[in-house]
Amino acid sequence: MSKNKSSESVKVVVRCRPLNRKEESNGPSGEIVQMDLRLGQVILRNPRASHSEPQKTFTFDAVYDGNSKQRDLYDESVRPLIDSVLAGFNGTIFAYGQTGTGKTYTMQGMWLDTEKRGVIPNAFDHIFTHISRSQSDKQYLVRASYLEIYREEIRDLLDPSHASARGLELRESPETGVYVPDLTSCVCKSIKEIEEVMNVGNQARAVAATHMNEYSSRSHALFLITVECGQPGPDGRKHIRVGRLNLVDLAGSERQAKTGVQGERLKEAAKINLSLSALGNVISALADGRSGHVPYRDSKLTRLLQDSLGGNAKTVMVATLGPAPQHYDETLTTLRYANRAKNIQNQPRVNEDPKDALLREFQREIARLRAQLNHRKWRNKQKKERSDDQASDPDGDEDGECEEEEQVEKDAEDYVKREEQRLEREKEAIRGDRSLLADEKQRLLGEKERMMGDLRKEQEATEQLTAKYKAMESKLLVGGKNIIDHTNEQQKMLEVKRQEIAEQSRNEREMQQQMMVQDDETLELRETFTSLQQEVEAKTKKLKKLYAKLQCIKAEIQDVNDEHVRSRQELEQTQNELTRELKFKYLIIENFIPPEEKNKIMSRMTFDPEEDQWKFQPLVPAESKPLQMKKRPTSAVGYKRPISQYARVAITMGANNRFRAENIMFLELDMNPPNTASLGRFKDAELNQSSSVDNSPTNDGGVHKSRSWYQSQKSLTSSSSNVSLSACTTATPASAQ
Ligand code: ADP
Ligand code: MG
Repeated sequence: MSKNKSSESVKVVVRCRPLNRKEESNGPSGEIVQMDLRLGQVILRNPRASHSEPQKTFTFDAVYDGNSKQRDLYDESVRPLIDSVLAGFNGTIFAYGQTGTGKTYTMQGMWLDTEKRGVIPNAFDHIFTHISRSQSDKQYLVRASYLEIYREEIRDLLDPSHASARGLELRESPETGVYVPDLTSCVCKSIKEIEEVMNVGNQARAVAATHMNEYSSRSHALFLITVECGQPGPDGRKHIRVGRLNLVDLAGSERQAKTGVQGERLKEAAKINLSLSALGNVISALADGRSGHVPYRDSKLTRLLQDSLGGNAKTVMVATLGPAPQHYDETLTTLRYANRAKNIQNQPRVNEDPKDALLREFQREIARLRAQLNHRKWRNKQKKERSDDQASDPDGDEDGECEEEEQVEKDAEDYVKREEQRLEREKEAIRGDRSLLADEKQRLLGEKERMMGDLRKEQEATEQLTAKYKAMESKLLVGGKNIIDHTNEQQKMLEVKRQEIAEQSRNEREMQQQMMVQDDETLELRETFTSLQQEVEAKTKKLKKLYAKLQCIKAEIQDVNDEHVRSRQELEQTQNELTRELKFKYLIIENFIPPEEKNKIMSRMTFDPEEDQWKFQPLVPAESKPLQMKKRPTSAVGYKRPISQYARVAITMGANNRFRAENIMFLELDMNPPNTASLGRFKDAELNQSSSVDNSPTNDGGVHKSRSWYQSQKSLTSSSSNVSLSACTTATPASAQ
């Protein structure tokens, strides 16, 4: 695996929850998971194996046992990641594990109990506290979105219509990677607001969970926070760094039983686990490092996490375990999964000045509104100076922006008030002026009224503009200004100390792990033997150790083989079911759909990999539509539809019987049914008919008016179809030429 300078591996931490009451009452077999917090090791005991069988040991970046505190996990393993996000990196934390092992507890925890708040609420605190304590030349914009993936459909949890709406689509851009274009994103100004966003989403999930069985354990929830930070750089220009944080609570990793599933339900079952199995494949492919192809595109989840796994992001995976013996297999699978993920290398980099930064748009809009307001202020001032004889204050340098704004408002209000008074006075003067005519008075008063109306409108517009400006500006958080930090110095010190301790214990563990590896290597070098006996003893001990290691690895190989066999069997079973389903569909197609229809359909079908669906191609390519698509000829009201050129030619050629019947249909009711007497007049009718048709508009425009029997006395019965046909054939050559 190529390790370039900026690459770093995915951090993997393991957390085991305490035994719950039910498990405790189940029996004395006890816990199967032991943890060495100092070394970051998990030791797993197989409850079914004999005591002589070696236990399985896995080493991780950190491990947390049942007594661990939420705060410890956050400070040691999550805080550095959130700091990176605040510095403009992408970050992802995902919780992986069997249902009921504490994924949601770790990610969300108990909101009301400060001790038991999980990663997400702690991250909210962290982000907004950081903003409140940062320098005032920094501007921040924080946005949040919340989505979930259920049965391979992405749903927006902040959109109230999400339950009924179709799943959202994914798009990819070279700038931002994979994203969901229509996802709701809420600008949040405080912890309270972002918590509100989280609550709205959680409620949407809870509603869905009551409608569907095992919903919460089978859906993946992604909470996305984007922190944009603008700060003037050394070059004097404002630079924007954008950090994106994904907080992911995955679906339960347990194997879902697929037995007895058929048809639609089979498809559903396949979809439920698709994202997780695809995640497993992606992790394997990345950890392996040899296979060039990483199957990100296999599922929505892996596409969304594409950057987090092997891309531009820093990633922490929290694998959660249960200590109960009955879940040994799942626990082992989770540990293997986690162990593999350790080998994934990411290439995180700071996202500086991306094109799509919303902060820049906000800044531009604010600047525009500000310019408009300033312009108004300037105009008002000018007017004020003109209207008022007394000289205004010299335009002193107003230092703060705030003062300036207040001044703008005050000036505007002053001006409007005075102007109103002036207009009122003038109106009074006009009313009192006897020298003016009544008409003239009315006109002048009307004019003054209009001026006052304009003045009020102007004032309203200014007020609206100011309100908009203030609303926009309030969304931007200025370092140390918008959010008041209530923590006192002592608490701050305490926080710093706690972070230092967390940092220290992290370093200590890393060193311990390094030492352990080195110990094994250097043991041999350091050993000096005083006697042969001693050497034999030492070597035997070492042999034993190596033998145990060998046994471990052998057992591991056996386990992995077993697992492969098991998953192969499952896949084969799924394949058999799908084949059976396919045969059924084929049977229907082959026997009940005409081959030409089938061919037509087949030639029009194309596969859309974006949506993972077969789609019908349009009959006419979209770009040539207006040119190629001929409109069906329309008829004048009361006339039959004209005969097409093609039909006319076909009639003349006499080749195709289909067209011989053109233009002989009488569309209205036959009021006078044929009888044998009428047959005698056949000959006359033929002559009449042909002459009448000949005179019909067919000759010029190919249009026939439909006639009914009762309209024309000469008209004949239905046996005249021959007649009309002959009439047509005689009539059309002229028009066809
Ligand atoms: P998951 O989301 O993985 O299905 P939950 O987070 O819902 O599991 O946890 C299941 C139960 O276990 C909850 O009642 C939770 O309070 C409890 N629990 C999980 N982890 C811990 C822990 N570390 N300490 C105490 N209780 C825990
Ligand atoms: Mg859960």
